[in-house]
Amino acid sequence: MGVELRSGFRDECGVFGVFDAEDAARLTYLGLYALQHRGQESAGIATLDSAGHISVEREMGYVADVFTEERLSRLPGRAAIGHVRYATAGASLLINAQPIVFATGRGPLALAHNGNLVNAREIRASLEASGALFTTSSDSEVILHLIARSRATTLGAAIAEALSEVRGAYSLLILGRDGIFAVRDPNGIRPLSLGMHEGYPVAASETCAFDLIGAKFERDVEPGEIVRLSSDGFSSHRFAFPRATPCVFEHIYFARPDSLVFGKSVAAVREAFGARLAREHPADADVVVPVPDSGMYAALGYARESGLPFALGMVRNHYVGRTFIEPKQAIRSFGVKVKLNPVRQVVEGKRVVLVDDSIVRGTTSRKIVRMLREAGAKQVHVRISSPPTMNSCHYGIDTPTRRELIASNHSVEDIRKYIDADSLGYLSPEGMLEAFGRPQQATCTACFTGVYPVAIEEEEREKESALEVL
Ligand code: AMP
Repeated sequence: MGVELRSGFRDECGVFGVFDAEDAARLTYLGLYALQHRGQESAGIATLDSAGHISVEREMGYVADVFTEERLSRLPGRAAIGHVRYATAGASLLINAQPIVFATGRGPLALAHNGNLVNAREIRASLEASGALFTTSSDSEVILHLIARSRATTLGAAIAEALSEVRGAYSLLILGRDGIFAVRDPNGIRPLSLGMHEGYPVAASETCAFDLIGAKFERDVEPGEIVRLSSDGFSSHRFAFPRATPCVFEHIYFARPDSLVFGKSVAAVREAFGARLAREHPADADVVVPVPDSGMYAALGYARESGLPFALGMVRNHYVGRTFIEPKQAIRSFGVKVKLNPVRQVVEGKRVVLVDDSIVRGTTSRKIVRMLREAGAKQVHVRISSPPTMNSCHYGIDTPTRRELIASNHSVEDIRKYIDADSLGYLSPEGMLEAFGRPQQATCTACFTGVYPVAIEEEEREKESALEVL
């Protein structure tokens, strides 16, 4: 049960859509390829053909493995949406792969969702009580049920009506006979951008997907806005009063540095986090080393601000799959070593400032510090380009329960001892917001501050306690 909850309700994802393009399925495949970092568990594409029929192909695994030529050829039509789903600790279930496709009174609909609804259970229970049959354990399915039940005359109006019932984080792409609808929740917690590709409208979680297909970024979908992608381009409708609180963690860790997210360059914001971190926590050291890839830009910012040399003292193996055959005899720190290895020539005899984006459970940092010492580092000063992660995300980033978050029940000094660093410094919440360029009331900082911009229902808290007894 607990495992199912985790897999069904804790997914961070990426979405891509294109309307009226010659090669819709192929373009979507490429878009998803660029968004692979947002979800490695499953990938799926749904297309709408000229007869108004929706075809869908979904599978567990990476985009490049899921979509063969043969699979893409089974996706005819000039309109497509796609989805990548994030790996979670729980069971991987194909039934939860998206897009979800439904036959409704207004024709077939396909839905791709990035985010997490906080009142999905309550809505699902009441829909089930009135006879609805659910086919997945995903929170996203309630949106399709609500749209299917709406009596509104147009699909856009039905979507708006459905969304008046749900709360939480949702960046959605909905494909139907009237076009593609791109939606962001009133808080705009997850990103969703619009672009143009050879005269055709496209939408994607991040702009790096536009770069790959040669599309031009136009603008973000606004919080509380529904944008219809059609042959005329974009038409906009506001369905809710916006209360923008975009997620700062997208900029800290999740998004790709070459994307523009919430109108800002992720690389530039990360450098600003690093520069601020250097001012807040200077170190008497010889070299600044990032944990690749997540600490790269913050470490650059730290090095520039502190005047210390930047050096690539760790190498990441980019070809590590989701599983590997473990050695028969235990190798110390094997799980981390298979991904990261220090460069002895760079760190030997040095006082190293090690920069990473976050500490979750603390196990990675602990192993990296040990590896650096084994490679001859004289001192290791750990600097984290975000505040201590103390709370779980209920808006779609896969975080462990509070109990497993080392900072929720340990002081910075305890954590320093645990990871065995010579010193440890986290970016302050104020410093993070200043570098992000948004005030607290206009940002989701829940994982750091415990301030949840969309009220968390009892059911969400219960989910957490259910997970804690796993
Ligand atoms: P831990 O060993 O649990 O402390 O993991 C810390 C590492 O996980 C850091 O290097 C982060 O870059 C990375 N990280 C942070 N948040 C997430 C997340 N939601 N999913 C996957 N990795 C993450």
